[in-house]
Amino acid sequence: MPELSDINTVKEILSRHGFHFSKSLGQNFIINPDVCPRIAIESGVNKEICALEIGPGIGVLTKELAKRAKRVLAVEIDKVLLPVLKETLAEFDNVDVLNADVLKIDVFETARKYFGDTPFIVCANLPYYITSPILMKLLEEGCGAESITVMVQKEAALRIAAKPGTRDCGALTAAIHYYSEPEKLFDVGKNSFVPAPKVDSSVIRLKIRKEPPVAVSDEKYFFKVIKASFGQRRKTLANSVSGGLGFGKDEVLCALEKCGLSSTARAEELSLVDFAAFSAALAEIQQNRT
Ligand code: SAM
Repeated sequence: MPELSDINTVKEILSRHGFHFSKSLGQNFIINPDVCPRIAIESGVNKEICALEIGPGIGVLTKELAKRAKRVLAVEIDKVLLPVLKETLAEFDNVDVLNADVLKIDVFETARKYFGDTPFIVCANLPYYITSPILMKLLEEGCGAESITVMVQKEAALRIAAKPGTRDCGALTAAIHYYSEPEKLFDVGKNSFVPAPKVDSSVIRLKIRKEPPVAVSDEKYFFKVIKASFGQRRKTLANSVSGGLGFGKDEVLCALEKCGLSSTARAEELSLVDFAAFSAALAEIQQNRT
C-alpha cells in the first residue's frame, strides 16, 4: 500500500501515469502525513455516514475518509487522475470516483444516487481558485450534507469564520453564516503541499443549519443587498448601496433610519438581523415607487 504523503512515492506514481500538476485546476497535494487523518477525524465521518470528497487528487485524503466512512464518493475533474486513483485506492471497496466538474453537477441528486438515504458530509482540500463558488453552490442549492469540512486559504478562512458585524467579514461571511455555523479548526503551512502554494491554509468546518438564523422574505434580494453593501466595503452604505442598486442616497438614508441604523454605517458593522431589516426596508421603498 503506497504511502501517499511520501514525496518520492507521490512523484513516482504521478510520473508513471504521465501526470503534470495543473495550476489552473488548483492542484496542490498534501504531503504532510499528519494533516489528512486530522481532517478526516474533524469531519466527524464514521461508519454510519458517507463522505463526498471534492477533488481527491492522488487520493491521500480519500484514503483517510475511506477508512472511517461507510462510503466515499470522490468527484474529480481531471481525467488523468482516474487511473492514478484506481491504483492508489485499490484496497478499498467503499470508494467511488466520479469524473465531473463539481460546479456542474446536482450535488443533492448525485449524493442520493450513491448514498441513498444515508446521511453524508462533504470533505475536501478545495481547489482554491473556486473556493467561494463551490461553498456557495453547496449552501445555496441545499446539497443535503450535514456539514462541510474543507481546507481553504488562510485568508479565506478568516473571512468565512468572522462574525457578521466585525471587521474581517465580507459578503461571503454573511452568506456562510446564514446557511451554516462556521468554525476554524487548524492552520496548515504551505510546506505541507506539493507543489507548495504561495500562502498558508486553514481547515474550517461548516455545520449546516436546519433553519436560517433570521427570517427573510426574499432571499434573492437579501443577498443582492449584501453584495452591493460590500461592493465598496470602505464606503458608507448610503454610498455603496445607492451606487450599486440604483437607489437615491436619500432613499438609502431613509431605509437606514427605519431600521435604527446610523446614516454613516458601513457593511462590516451590520449583523444578519440588520441586513434582513435593511433589505426589507429597501424593498418596500422600491415597491412604493411603482
Ligand atoms: N485532495 C487532494 C489533496 O489534498 O492532496 C488534492 C487537492 S487539490 C488542492 C484540488 C483537487 O481538486 C485537484 O485534484 C483538482 O484536479 C480538483 N479539482 C479542481 N477543480 C475541480 C472541479 N471543478 N471539480 C472537481 N474537482 C476539481
